[in-house]
Amino acid sequence: MKKIAILEGDGIGPEITKEAVLLLEEVGKQYGHSFEYQYGKIGGVAVDEEGTPLPKETVQLCKQNDAILLGAVGGPKWDQEAPSRKPEKGLLDLRKSLQLFANLRPVNVYSALLDSSPLKPEVVRGADLLIVRELTGGLYFGEPRERRSTEQGLEVVDTLFYTEAEMERILRKAFELARLREKRVTSVDKANVLESSRLWRETAERIAKDYEDVSLEHMLVDNAAMQLIRDPDQFDVLVTENMFGDILSDEASMITGSLGMLPSASLGASGPGLYEPIHGSAPDIAGLSKANPLATLSSVAMLLKYSFHLTEEANAIEEAIEAALEEGYRTQDIARNGEKVISTEEMGKVVRVHYREITLNKRSKEKVKQS
Ligand code: NAD
Repeated sequence: MKKIAILEGDGIGPEITKEAVLLLEEVGKQYGHSFEYQYGKIGGVAVDEEGTPLPKETVQLCKQNDAILLGAVGGPKWDQEAPSRKPEKGLLDLRKSLQLFANLRPVNVYSALLDSSPLKPEVVRGADLLIVRELTGGLYFGEPRERRSTEQGLEVVDTLFYTEAEMERILRKAFELARLREKRVTSVDKANVLESSRLWRETAERIAKDYEDVSLEHMLVDNAAMQLIRDPDQFDVLVTENMFGDILSDEASMITGSLGMLPSASLGASGPGLYEPIHGSAPDIAGLSKANPLATLSSVAMLLKYSFHLTEEANAIEEAIEAALEEGYRTQDIARNGEKVISTEEMGKVVRVHYREITLNKRSKEKVKQS
């Protein structure tokens, strides 16, 4: 029995996580696994009902489960809340309290959606990379960070602080992940200017010696920003510190051109991982059955792969999504002129039907092989 915490959150969160749970049930049925779900509150809905975006019970519940699946948080209803009551604060605090230091964002382009990219099809075709971003250190957390009044006027300071151990654990994660892929790591830094980047680069070099089957190259962040849109296919695993990763991962998400397609995972050294689509709560379409559930369904694939090591089950989800897209099924966000638009529920169902067919096909092929 594997236990999964479900945090639906706000806006389209409940609609897309519902499809995710239905898909998990299908996975269970096809492969003989059973999943147990425990629901917790986070974000705006938790502010409304509990007075805080991350109730203690939610943190407790997450810690008791093997993995966490989250929809999205936020919306205009809570825009005027104090910083400590903002829905997004709930998510930041959850990542912090579970010490989720590694953020994984795969970017792969489905051939059926090549035209959705703002880049030319010949540039994005074949792109399949994984961005590994350090999530709990660096400029966003370093102290001091403050404004000071001086006789010459205001001055301001932010601090880019990292320990070598923080660098080492994220770099190791990247090398480990590269072993599951094409065994190539690109480490992104600004070593020509920043001392923190120089230690980052030295640490990467040192760690690379433990992974001789994985190749390592270094790239300056300004060059990486260009290379991502010039030739995204050159990357396998791209690893970088917090702020560079924040910017590069958003840039990379545009390679696919569709926010509703991209999953993410945030992992710690131990304990449950957090899986969520990268898009927000899409308040403009909440409750209208227009949300694209595919980013959340891909997040389920990541959950199965990274938290439960169920690689075959996970790959079949990606295949089912690909098959649904190849057959022309589209939610409104990825539909082009003339293409038929289906609802959130219909898309969820189409993926489940393909999942069933794909797993049955695999099984009958295995039987033929054995006989
Ligand atoms: P958003 O990602 O919610 O929406 C941007 C646009 O993309 C909207 O037009 C929306 O309808 C569309 N869209 C997003 N996801 C979609 C999907 N699955 N299917 C179809 N269309 C989709 O970003 P936003 O509008 O800037 O933010 C809305 C709220 O979400 C804000 O409160 C923001 O703070 C929050 N937010 C939360 C997260 C998170 O929970 N991880 C991430 C980003 C933004």
